[in-house]
Amino acid sequence: MKIVFATNNSNKLKEVRALLPTIEILSLKDIKCFEDIEETEVTLEGNAKLKANYITHNFGLDCFADDTGLELEALDNAPGVYSARYAGEPSDSEKNIEKVLSEMKDKENRIAQFRTVVALNLKNDQFLFEGICKGEISKTKNGNKGFGYDPIFIPKGNKKSFAEMSMDEKGGISHRGKAIQKLITFLNLI
Ligand code: IMP
Repeated sequence: MKIVFATNNSNKLKEVRALLPTIEILSLKDIKCFEDIEETEVTLEGNAKLKANYITHNFGLDCFADDTGLELEALDNAPGVYSARYAGEPSDSEKNIEKVLSEMKDKENRIAQFRTVVALNLKNDQFLFEGICKGEISKTKNGNKGFGYDPIFIPKGNKKSFAEMSMDEKGGISHRGKAIQKLITFLNLI
């Protein structure tokens, strides 16, 4: 089976390809889609659907897309759907991390979660899968693996940040890993 994952984020592609070794995952580049699909919706669900629908409508292909947000309890669940552009445009992970650390400087409540929504367009139908990984925000950056906010996110029950874990270790407990596991279970059913 072949399916398009509507992203050009090489880190996401690596993570998802490792989770779905028996399926050929095509990127946007692979299908010659060079558009930057703008995330204009105000929810993760909306943006995941928007990206998947762009591909199905313009390329006539089944596909899935994800949108992920970091939700901080002490900041009323910000940055959430605005995680990519939290420190402004263009998206810059280092600046985003600095902004989160600065806004969390005096906060005792460090509770955080990553939430991923995957939208799957298959045979003229659409299905949504959610994955949540609970944890906390550290006071400093740790590790140099992974991407995005990984150096400051410590998943619950761990001492290491996501950026100190191997891809397999992260994939086994992560928000994206959980959403993709639901997609795998679903695809095995039909
Ligand atoms: P998007 O899903 O690509 O829109 O990602 C939103 C923001 O969250 C971007 O700044 C990403 O770098 C970040 N992000 C997405 N997934 C992860 C992850 O698994 N770990 C850390 N940061 C992530």
